[in-house]
Amino acid sequence: MGDVTYKRTGGGACPCAAGQKESGPRGAMERLRVLELYSGIGGMHYALQESGIPAQVVAAIDVNTTANQIYRHNFPDTTLWNKTIEGITLDEFDKLPVDMIVMSPPCQPFTRVGLQGDIADSRTKSFLHILHLLPRLCRRPRFILLENVKGFEVSSARQRLVETLVECGYTFQETMISPTSVGIPNSRLRYFLTAKLSTANESSQSSKIPEAFPHPAGASPHQHSVVSSPPSAATGRPDEDTQGGHVLYKQETEREAQRKTSQNQDLSVRRIRDFLEPPGDVNMEHYLLPPGTLLRYSLLLDIVQPTCRRSVCFTKGYGRYVEGTGSVLQCCVETEMESVFAGLDQMSEDDKLQQLLKLKLRYFSPREVANLMGFPQSFSFPQQISTKQQYRVLGNSLNVVVVARLLRLLVS
Ligand code: SAH
Repeated sequence: MGDVTYKRTGGGACPCAAGQKESGPRGAMERLRVLELYSGIGGMHYALQESGIPAQVVAAIDVNTTANQIYRHNFPDTTLWNKTIEGITLDEFDKLPVDMIVMSPPCQPFTRVGLQGDIADSRTKSFLHILHLLPRLCRRPRFILLENVKGFEVSSARQRLVETLVECGYTFQETMISPTSVGIPNSRLRYFLTAKLSTANESSQSSKIPEAFPHPAGASPHQHSVVSSPPSAATGRPDEDTQGGHVLYKQETEREAQRKTSQNQDLSVRRIRDFLEPPGDVNMEHYLLPPGTLLRYSLLLDIVQPTCRRSVCFTKGYGRYVEGTGSVLQCCVETEMESVFAGLDQMSEDDKLQQLLKLKLRYFSPREVANLMGFPQSFSFPQQISTKQQYRVLGNSLNVVVVARLLRLLVS
């Protein structure tokens, strides 16, 4: 378990130390006051609930009106500010005040497929605003948890964050984790930083993350050290760094096929079928891939069966775009995938379609995607939110179980 970065920073002096109040130790029953920035559909809020930590979200902030409708629907009693974070003043933050900040800043400036605008991207402005305010707060939060995409760890935004944390006297840990490390058959490799305000007599918290995220021998890595295993900038898809080798069937290389086989053999990960809706509950017809998509994109699909122990990351384009947006489910398991794809390119369009239809390929429903992302059954969408919108907001969200574990480690 030595592959996880553990970092400590010195408790640097705070520039506004005079009169600085830190959130002090709280009684066992007292709830942590949490500020949820970039709250989206409330993945962080669910993670807090799942963690069992006595906590209360005192304010959630997001500008996306669709996400906010969903947030309100599920957390009607939480104060939700529908405004830009950069528009919130130091005074407003000081009036809250909070013990913990959880946040998932916009990831587009850092994704490897994007332009990597980093701090020059206007979408990073709000995050820089937070970094500007943190040293100036009357009472700094004891805990911070930040989630972002692979790519953030090499960004200037991360550099600024780390500098600010050091300046403000936090210790922090950084790690890359995928939900497979908590037994969920879905890849979603993400960067996490957890920070804790140092106290004078604080003892070392080393090796806590590894214990909570077991990494079975022989299995594909679920967790990556941020520093000892620098990210490859080569590919755009998280967890999909193993390209190469010659193409077998379905434009898949031998190495890729091997990786999928080894993922499916990893018994520490549950099967896809545990995350599916009961057959009667899901309107199959609604989710079947249309003929045009089958004909055009069949070779690009990532197909999984209910017995598989893997699926690729669901992104906000799921259901609209095919390549790299998430796996599709083969409902007719009696049909052999290899036999369907054999010689497909020599067939007429009609024959090709007949072959592909045999697999009964469908999209995962939003509920199933939510299940794979660790959302509880109590989570639901308001009626007016379309399926596409549901995929979109889910694709922006996070794995609740992974974050819940990180929160427990941070607060324990
Ligand atoms: N963790 C969230 C999703 C975060 S995605 C969840 O579980 O759903 C990033 C979110 O930041 C998006 O919902 C987006 O609307 C919001 N956002 C982006 N820029 C913002 C800004 N300047 N002020 C407030 N919210 C912003």
